Amino acid sequence: MRTLWPLIAIVLVTAPPCAAGELALFDTHIHYSTPDWTVYSPEAVLKILDSAGVRRALVSSTPDDGTVRLYEKDPGRVVPELRPYRTRADMVSWYRDPDVLAYVEERLRRGIYKGLGEFHLRAEDAATPLMKRFVALAVAHNLVMHSHSDAATIQALFAHDGRLRALWAHAGMSAGPDEIAAMLDRYPNLWVELALRTDVAPGGTLDPDWRALFLRYPDRFCVGTDTWITSRWDELPRYLASVRAWLAQLPADVAERIAFKNAERLYGVR
Ligand SMILES: [Zn+2]
Repeated sequence: MRTLWPLIAIVLVTAPPCAAGELALFDTHIHYSTPDWTVYSPEAVLKILDSAGVRRALVSSTPDDGTVRLYEKDPGRVVPELRPYRTRADMVSWYRDPDVLAYVEERLRRGIYKGLGEFHLRAEDAATPLMKRFVALAVAHNLVMHSHSDAATIQALFAHDGRLRALWAHAGMSAGPDEIAAMLDRYPNLWVELALRTDVAPGGTLDPDWRALFLRYPDRFCVGTDTWITSRWDELPRYLASVRAWLAQLPADVAERIAFKNAERLYGVR
């Protein structure tokens, strides 16, 4: 009897990535940054994504080599996003550093990127001539800007060029359904991702105001995890199970759009 246990363990580890009927996900907030590399190989990361039923992942990393390593292992799943951080130190100064703009221009020659971000930016830093050049670069290369910021910053980005397409990280972290609705009305090229927004479904039950927001704008939302620290990789399957649980409380066609179809259309990877 004892000898059966290893067999059972093998069966569990090699279970297919998506259980029958499980909603596939496009995770729009994944990082694979330096501290992750010694803990999880690219193969280990892809196995975690398999176990969580992540069909596609928008990946940005500090430095960008993490993204490229994952992309080369699984170009069908990884949608590369160029992060303007050569090191963590760039997080607080990238937007005023012409060297970072030159770095981004040089890196874009690789020709694989669908987005610019995820970056952190404050409204008072978003209206500068250098930021206008970052926005122009994004528009010229058809890159979706992925901005971790408040609503005022998003407004400043669109003020540079209304043709920009932007993904609002974490729905602004603290913006509520009313503020998000006003932004979606004002900016037709704005999409919103919900990484870390556990307030969408407190205690597992979809909040009525969020539900109304999703039904009103079913084509504008995406889901994500945010592996901003290494321990998030361990939590990812459980976190995405909680996301699936509130998606299941929406009409199936709306759930599918938020789960993966909106992001597939946004990034042109259908
Ligand atoms: Zn992030």
